[in-house]
Amino acid sequence: MSSTLKICHLYPDLLNLYGDRGNILCMQQRLKWRGITAEVTEVPAGAKADFKDADLIFIGGGQDFEQEVLLSDLKSGKDQELKAAIQDGKTVLAICGGYQMLGKYYETWDGVRCDFIDAIDFYTVGSKERMIGNFAFQCGDASGGSTVVGFENHSGKTYLGPGVEPLGKILAGGGNNGEDGGEGVRYLNVFGTYSHGPILPKNPEFCDFLLNTALQTRNPGFRLEPLDDGLELAAHDAVLQRVLSKQE
Ligand code: GLN
Repeated sequence: MSSTLKICHLYPDLLNLYGDRGNILCMQQRLKWRGITAEVTEVPAGAKADFKDADLIFIGGGQDFEQEVLLSDLKSGKDQELKAAIQDGKTVLAICGGYQMLGKYYETWDGVRCDFIDAIDFYTVGSKERMIGNFAFQCGDASGGSTVVGFENHSGKTYLGPGVEPLGKILAGGGNNGEDGGEGVRYLNVFGTYSHGPILPKNPEFCDFLLNTALQTRNPGFRLEPLDDGLELAAHDAVLQRVLSKQE
C-alpha cells in the first residue's frame, strides 16, 4: 500500500471559514499516526489544478462575497475539471460555501445568482434568517453511520434533487434547509456538509470513513488501523449531549 495520500486543497485563499483548514491538519495527523504521509497541494484562485493527481479534494466554506469572487476562476475551466473528477470517483470533502459550489446554483438572499458547477443535482437559495449554532446529525449507512457534531452558519437553504441522498439526518439544528431533516449530500465519493468547526477533529469516526474512502479508491480492501480515540470521542460525546439537550 502506498504510504502517501495526495490532498488537493482548493481555494485555501478564498474558502476558509471557522478553521476549516483544521480539517487538513487533522487528516495529516491521523494518517501520520498510521505511518502514512499526506501531501497537500494548495490551489488558490488563478492557479492550475491537477485534480487527476489527487486522492482527496478538500474545499472549505466562504461567505457570499468570496463565492461571487471565485465564479470567474471556476468558469475558466476548473468547473469542468472538478465535475470530471467527481464523476471519476474522486473523494471530495466540501464544507458549506464549498458544498454549495458543487450544486446547480446559489441565489443569495439579496438576489445575486451564482451559477455553480452542477456536478450534483441540488440548488441553494439564501434566506434572510440564518441557520446558526452547534448542530448534530447522523450519517447514513453509506457514509459510515457515525454521529457528527459541528457548527453551522449559513443563509443558504439547500434542496436536493430527486434521488440525491443527504449525508445524514439532522438530530439537532438546521442542516440543509431546516425543513426536510436532511443534512449535506453524499454523491459518489463526495461528502458535502454545512459543518464547520472544523468537522474532522471532533468526529474521528467520520474522518476515518472519509480517509478510508479515499485510500480504497487506489487500494480496494485497504482499511486504516484503529487509533485510541478516547479523548476525541469524549469531546465529541460531551458536545453531542450539550447540543441534544440544548444547554448552550
Ligand atoms: N455564503 C453561504 C451562506 O451563507 C455559505 C456560508 C458558509 O460557508 N458558512 O449560505
